[in-house]
Amino acid sequence: MSKQVLIAGAGMGGLAAAIASARAGWHPRVFEQADGFGEAGAGIQLGPNATRVLEAWGLGTALARVAAFPQRLAVRSAGNGEVLAQLMLGPALLERYGAPYATLHRADLHRVLLDGAADAGAELLVQARIERVREAPDAVLVSLGGPTEIEGDALVGADGLWSRVRQEIWADGPPVSTGHLAYRTLVAQQDLPKSLRSDEVTVWLGPRLHVVTYPVRGGDWLNVVAIVQGALTAEPEAWDQAAAAGDLQQALGATCAALQELVQAAPDWLLWVLHERPPLKGAQAMSHGRVALLGDAAHPMRPYLAQGAGMAIEDAQELGRCLAMARDRIADPATALRRYALNRWERCARVQRQAERNGRIFHATGPVQWGRDLSLRLLGERLLD
Ligand code: FAD
Repeated sequence: MSKQVLIAGAGMGGLAAAIASARAGWHPRVFEQADGFGEAGAGIQLGPNATRVLEAWGLGTALARVAAFPQRLAVRSAGNGEVLAQLMLGPALLERYGAPYATLHRADLHRVLLDGAADAGAELLVQARIERVREAPDAVLVSLGGPTEIEGDALVGADGLWSRVRQEIWADGPPVSTGHLAYRTLVAQQDLPKSLRSDEVTVWLGPRLHVVTYPVRGGDWLNVVAIVQGALTAEPEAWDQAAAAGDLQQALGATCAALQELVQAAPDWLLWVLHERPPLKGAQAMSHGRVALLGDAAHPMRPYLAQGAGMAIEDAQELGRCLAMARDRIADPATALRRYALNRWERCARVQRQAERNGRIFHATGPVQWGRDLSLRLLGERLLD
């Protein structure tokens, strides 16, 4: 009989883990606390490190049906709109990395992964919040609040930023606020003035803020995310709260006409309060006996490298490789999870650190901002290459 892996959370990380573990010959049982499967109304970028994995899992065609594949990333000044630098994302990137740069609606990516997990034979349960975790010598047991325990050979905590599994095993407290807020919206391109429609990724840099726009749903919609540093008035644990365009406009201050018009053109905004944890400090922070963490549960990061979900997908691929060792009786489940953690923690820590550094560069003020813009202008395409 196949070994059973219990997976807490059916976000992108949990579903990717389900696909990878099924491919490794395990039987995945995914427990999702929500009433149904779904994702927030916002966009997501996937670099070739992540699209390569999805293609390897046979999901390339499904991805291509819903994604946009922008040809260029332009870095602009939020103050005057000037293009400071650019990076070509189309054929040159494909040739260099062997997989495309994609931009998607989060719900579309979630659906691709959900279908992939179902096709792979994963058991998918909703209204199933994992509350307690207990380690036994030859198994791991979870309970959903009641007296009944569910037994598995391994448990993967893919339950996001506020991970319950992490608290049960590591008990290292909640994530911390970054002091940054993300305002997000999706606008139909046809509802935008022609000058604001775009099929590129654009990053607008201003003092203590940046704005990212990119196409989703095959290019029919434009995703807009504006990150500002500001007072945290919102509920910290809510992912997506309604926000007023007026608040954002005030937070953006004196930015160029195009950005002001974009904010006015989008009627509905959602607000995210950004949290993080310090970079991982070793494999012991990612696995403990038959329990391992994956995605934001393990390494929640600032979104300034657009790699949070990318790291979750990479984690899942490595998890699958290591679980296959247990299937083949090369290792017991705890050793397989230890190998997974050893192979992943350092890369994830580096990406967490780099994302934080990017934020500092993006939000620079005064002479540092001036130097950054000069460097971008001088180095142009090569700097971002
Ligand atoms: P989550 O998506 O949080 O999923 C966790 C799931 O677990 C949820 O469904 C939740 O309901 C469920 N759950 C929680 N607790 C329990 C429990 N006890 N029992 C059962 N179920 C439970 N990443 C990128 O790669 N590219 C980007 O462009 C990008 N942009 C971003 C922009 C912003 C503004 C933000 C905030 C993040 C961005 N990210 C991006 C990061 C990315 O969204 C996350 O890294 C990714 O969603 C993490 O997925 P996850 O599955 O680990 O966690």
